[in-house]
Order: sequence, then structure tokens, then C-alpha cells
Amino acid sequence: MHNRMIDKDKLTDPAEYIIIGGGPAAICAVAKIYGSGISGNQIVWIDPQFKVGDFGTKLSVGSSVPGNTSVESYQKVNDAIYTLLPGCAPTAETKFEMLDLPPNTTCPLKIAAQPLQHITDNLRKLVCAVEGIITEIEQAKDGLRLEIKLPDGTINHLITKRIILATGAEPRTLELPNYITVIDPNIAFIESELAQYLEKNPNIKTVAVIGSSHSAALATMHLLKAGIHVIQFMNKEYKFATPAIASDGTRYTQFDNTGLKGEVAKFTQQLLNDTSAGLGKYTGKWECYIGDDVDILLKTYLPECTHAVACIGYLPANRLKINGLPLSEFKHDKITTQMMGKDGKHIPGIFGIGVAFPLEVKAISGEIEPAVGVGKFWGNMNDRILAQWRNYPADIFVHTVPGHSLFLKQEEAQPDQAKKVAPKIRAKL
Ligand SMILES: Cc1cc2nc3c(=O)[nH]c(=O)nc-3n(C[C@H](O)[C@H](O)[C@H](O)COP(=O)(O)OP(=O)(O)OC[C@H]3O[C@@H](n4cnc5c(N)ncnc54)[C@H](O)[C@@H]3O)c2cc1C
Repeated sequence: MHNRMIDKDKLTDPAEYIIIGGGPAAICAVAKIYGSGISGNQIVWIDPQFKVGDFGTKLSVGSSVPGNTSVESYQKVNDAIYTLLPGCAPTAETKFEMLDLPPNTTCPLKIAAQPLQHITDNLRKLVCAVEGIITEIEQAKDGLRLEIKLPDGTINHLITKRIILATGAEPRTLELPNYITVIDPNIAFIESELAQYLEKNPNIKTVAVIGSSHSAALATMHLLKAGIHVIQFMNKEYKFATPAIASDGTRYTQFDNTGLKGEVAKFTQQLLNDTSAGLGKYTGKWECYIGDDVDILLKTYLPECTHAVACIGYLPANRLKINGLPLSEFKHDKITTQMMGKDGKHIPGIFGIGVAFPLEVKAISGEIEPAVGVGKFWGNMNDRILAQWRNYPADIFVHTVPGHSLFLKQEEAQPDQAKKVAPKIRAKL
């Protein structure tokens, strides 16, 4: 495959797309962009490992995070990719554990990761796949310039017209008193990892779980099952993903993206019923405090705990800079995927997807939720989003950083052309 990396000063031939990240969101994006007819030479795909991102690594170790997505909906995405790109389909010899499971059951992420790894291995052969970490993106007059750190430590450079950031997210952290030891949520999400942690720390008796999401309920479930006393702090009550029927008869799932699902929902519903009736084996083992101001609750009840798990959402992983600023200084448009500065000005040619930059979807019942998960990434990366990326006026790069000016890609472009284009583009920002 064409090598697009070269010394910084010699970059002249921008790729059409660079996709950063190797998780489910990036896999969907590379498959859809390549499947839309863009030549593999024009698509550069970058990840340090190509092991299906956090989905296939951190969240798939040991007994793995138990997923809340049905086998059927993973399989729908896999089948859609095989149809679009037959070279990614499994051969007769390929065995995925998922294929032996009933379609309506859920499965651990490590099982769902197997076909995604197979797709990755084949998709890498179709595009310019490069192992490495992007450290810098810079808007330059001839395109978006990227600095890449290769596995051997050397630094190289790339140039492109468009970048799709699918760089994943990290759990949001919370400042807690010094007497509290913070447990990484990824440990509490995986039963076998938690068992090992508790074996190494046998004196743990009471753990605080902060949050009211599916992840918080999962951490609570694993801690209770391991015999730990849990004090949970929530700013709102649990929501459950519930089958519903709209007024026109359409069937849908209320709180599909943010509600509790599967085994975790079943366990939590039982826990709520049992504890309110003073029954069940976890009564007295689980205390739950709900209030608008969690800080006040923490001041009162946290001293009873030695450890805490904070499940309070995610922030984009912050491993690269754009125009010298960390990724935390940017946000994204939840309808178009366009990246923006904190002032709301678009950064032309840079788009964000995946758990770090989720699209927002409106359910039939009206609630607006972030669309996260393999099926959501695939389904929502629709023709509108692909057109948004493709139709981006790739030959014109606008500096949105204050003090920078607009210019055209072609060195020979007339200055008055730039003046004419400027108001049109600026109106779009
Ligand atoms: C408790 C829990 C339950 C879940 N249950 C489900 C479920 O039921 N169904 C489901 O579909 N999903 C589930 N998930 C997974 C969820 O969908 C994740 O959000 C998903 O892995 C995100 O995919 P992603 O592609 O956005 O990011 P990731 O999988 O995190 O991938 C990001 C990739 O980008 C790379 N990267 C980052 N920065 C750079 C850089 N500068 N240069 C190069 N590469 C870079 C990283 O190395 C990584 O490989 C669950 C997650 C959790 C925590």
C-alpha cells in the first residue's frame, strides 16, 4: 500500500481521509468510507495496535465487560460490513463464539470483539493502515498536517484533506478525600478483574459507587456479588431501557441509549424490589442515597467507605493536540460530527465520532440521548454524515484560530478568489 508518511517539508499529496483510532467507531467509518468508493490509497487508518480499541482490549480482558447489546444487533452490523466489503467476511474455517449464541441474548464484549478483529485484519489490507499515535494536528495552507509517533519511537508526518477522530474516551474522574482509594471503573466492570483486586486488598469492606448509569449499576452488581458492602451516591434515579409503543403503533425502546439493560437491569430491578421490601440477600449490603447535590451526600456518608468507584461519564481521551491545543479545548457538533473550538467555530475538515464524540439521537418519546455502541455507530453513520464529510470543501482550508487568515489549497490561486470564497465559507461556520 502507498506510503503516505514523509518528512514534514516534503508533504505535497494530501490523502482524502485520515481516520484516527481502531475501535468500533473507526472500523465503521473506514468500512463506510472505503465502501463508498474512495480508493484505499486515499484512506489512511491509524491506531497503535488495531485490536478493536478499548472495546477489544481494556474492556475485553479476563471475564470481560458483560455487554448489554443483543447478539443479533452486533451480527446485523457484521453482516452489513460483509455485504459492503466481501473481503472482510469470515471464511468457512473462521469460528466466532457469537455464532453459537441465541440471537436475542447479550454477550460479553470479548465475544463481540472477535468478528470486529477479523474485519479489522482484512480492512487493514484494503487501506493505508499505519500503527502509531498521532500527537499533533495542524491546519496548514495545503491541508491538515499530522505528526505521528511510530512504534519504534520515530516521528513522521502525514497530510490530509479530512480527519475523522475516533479516539475513544476515558472515565471522568472526581476529586475525593485522601482517605479514599479510587478503584478504576474498568476493574469493577469486569468480574474477574474485581476478584483479583479484592484478593490483593482483602481488607476492603465498604465501597462507594458514585453514579446512576448502566456502568454504575454494573459496578454495584459486581461488588455486591463479591460480598462487598456498597454505598451508592446518585443524582437521579435509575432509568431502565423499556419496550414502548408510540401513538402511531411504532415499537421502540425508551431510554435505549442511557437506560439499564440486560442482566444488569434484571439484577438492579430485583435489588430495588428486595431492598424496599426489606428482603433478599443484599438487604443491608446496599445503601443508596439520591439527591441533587451529591457533594452534600458524599460529605455525610463517604467517611463510612475506604474505596470508591466513580461512574460519572466519559471524557474524550486526550492524546493529541490540534493547533497546539489539547483535545479537551475542543467540542463537537452532535448533529454533524464537525469539531469546533470552545467558541463554537468549526475546525474545517476535522470530524469526531464514537464514544468520545457521540451523535445525539431523539427517541420517539422525545428524550435526547448520545448514541453509543457498535450498532449505534454503524446505524447513525448514515448517508447524511458521509455526505457531510465528503462534501466538505476540501480544497479550501480556513484557519479558525484567531489571527489566522483564509487561503486556498492551490498555491497559484488568485488572492481575489480567496476574498470571494471567504464570506460564503464563513457563513457556514
Ligand atoms: C460498562 C460498559 C459496557 C459496554 N457495553 C457495550 C455494549 O453492550 N455494546 C456496545 O456496542 N458497546 C459497549 N460498550 C463499549 C462502548 O460502546 C465503547 O464506548 C466503545 O468501545 C467505544 O468505541 P470507540 O471506537 O469510540 O473508542 P475505543 O474503543 O476506545 O477506541 C479508540 C481507539 O483510538 C485509539 N487512539 C486514541 N488516541 C489516538 C491517537 N492520538 N492516535 C492514534 N490512535 C489513538 C486508541 O488507542 C483506541 O484504540 C461498553 C462499554 C462499557 C464501559
